[in-house]
Order: sequence, then C-alpha cells, then structure tokens
Amino acid sequence: MNEYFAGIDIGSTAVKIVVTDADRQIIGSKTAATGALVFKNAQTAFSSLLDEIGLERKHVSYLTTTGYGRKLFLDADETISEITANAVGAREVGKPFGTIRTIINIGGQDSKGISLDEYGNVTNFAMNDRCAAGTGRFLDMAARNLEIEVDDLGPFHFAAKGIPAAVNATCAVFAESEIIGLLGNGHEREEIVKGIHFSIAKRTIRLVKKVGIEELIYFDGGPALNKGLVAALEDELGRRLVIPAIPQVTTAYGAALIGLESHGYEKREQAKEFAIPVVAEESEVAHACGACSCG
Ligand code: ADP
Repeated sequence: MNEYFAGIDIGSTAVKIVVTDADRQIIGSKTAATGALVFKNAQTAFSSLLDEIGLERKHVSYLTTTGYGRKLFLDADETISEITANAVGAREVGKPFGTIRTIINIGGQDSKGISLDEYGNVTNFAMNDRCAAGTGRFLDMAARNLEIEVDDLGPFHFAAKGIPAAVNATCAVFAESEIIGLLGNGHEREEIVKGIHFSIAKRTIRLVKKVGIEELIYFDGGPALNKGLVAALEDELGRRLVIPAIPQVTTAYGAALIGLESHGYEKREQAKEFAIPVVAEESEVAHACGACSCG
C-alpha cells in the first residue's frame, strides 16, 4: 500500500500544504488565505487538496504541522518549528544546485535569515517579527497604495524607466506616507515599486548578515514570487539566489519530510518492540507457571 505524508504550514498570512509520497516526491500542494478562522480555513484547504489528488485523510500516514498556528491541528502526529522545517525543505529542494548554506525567508509578517552547516543543520537564525517593513505586509500595503495587485509588483519593477525612487522610511507607517508623497511629487509607480524593492532588499540583507551570508543562498516565502524583489536582492548581494519553483511551500514540504522520517523511525521502533516481547512473554509464562525447570 502506498504511504503519503502531509506537511501543513500555518503562516500568519497563508496556509501552505504539501503531500508527498514515500519517495519524497510532492504529490500535491496548496496555498490558501489563513484568515480569521485559522483552523477552519486550514482544515478546508487540507480537505480540498486531498480531494484534488484523490486521497482521503486515512491515506495520510503522518501529518506534521508547522508555522505560527501549528498547535491548532490536534490530530497532527507532530508539530515542528518553522525554522527547522524551512531548513529541511530548502536542503532537499536546493539539492540540484548544491548545498544550501543560507536561507532568506520573507513571510507575510516577518523575515528571517537562517544559516546552515555543510550537512544542512541549522546553526543560527535571525528574525524580524516586530516591524512590518521588509515583510510581505509592507509589499501588500504598498501595492494597495499604488492601486495595483501584489503580483503586479514584479512587472512594475522591470517596467521602471527612471531611477528607482528613494524609499527611506524604516517603518511601514511612515513608508505609507512616503509613498503617497512620492506619488504627489509626480514619481511614476514603476519607479516607486523599484525603490521599495531596493529598500526591502537592503533591510533584509542587514538582517541576514547577522547570521552570516554563505553560498548557496536560498530565497523563499511568498514575496519570492516577486521577480522584482528577487532582482533587487541579487543586485544588492552581487550573487544569484536559488528560488524554488513554488516559493511558498518549502516549509510545508520540509514538515512533510520530517514526518516521513519520524514515521519510518516509529515503524522501526515498533518492529523492534514486536520482536522482543515474543521471547519475553514465553519466558515470563514459563517462570510464572513453574511448568519448566529452566530456573
Ligand atoms: P506567511 O508564511 O507569513 O503566511 P507567506 O510566505 O505565505 O507568509 O507570504 C505571504 C506574502 O507573500 C504576502 O503578504 C504577499 O506579499 C506575498 N505574495 C503572495 N503571493 C504573491 C504573488 N503572487 N506575487 C508577489 N507576492 C506575493
């Protein structure tokens, strides 16, 4: 019988779900808004992904949850920190490129720098979860102010003809007034978008430098879908980044892989338990009933 493993990453902005088979291959993935009804929305997204890939909950041998809402899934077999899950997912996805040593993760409400050793173990991390500047929320706010969709930010970046507008505010609230001021001074939206990307890139690199930046560098989280931000980061770093095909689901994938390993370990332990009691029970019965003279 085939075995399947699910990883659910309940982030502040989006729920990400990955189902793998026992060969670590992704069978299906899904992203849905976290919303206010966090558990209900995550559960609905999980059921709908299972429907899409023709599986039922009972086919999932092991469910691992991660992210800020990870404890909400009471039927999860395991919960794991998003730093560990992100590292495991990035190590696996990045294999064709080499060994991932640095992860830049930008989420809806936070940004992180994670450093890994040559075996893929987490050695250090730095996180900004106090300030919206440099996070997906900042990009969402900027897109709203510029009256564009968040997935237009990339095309707007590359369409900029003039020099990127200087967006200096380090606080999202001040940046909002700065953007409105730039529009009022006649700056094109494209130049403002490009300026915002460079401002986020500089801020992110300052954060990641706290853990040290080593090759290969992996960039994930929803904002990694924004090719303009990717270009600004690569420009500021002077290096290419490894961008996964589906940047939002690396952490969910890592959680599923951790579940796959845990399940394998549990199965091996169970096999050992079943092997030993057969002998133990026989001798216990013999000693208890005194039916033999073996002592
Ligand atoms: P979290 O794990 O904190 O919930 P995510 O990694 O899912 O966050 O990232 C959410 C952010 O990703 C959003 O705030 C948004 O800025 C960005 N994002 C989502 N979809 C896109 C897209 N198609 N293009 C550009 N950015 C996107």
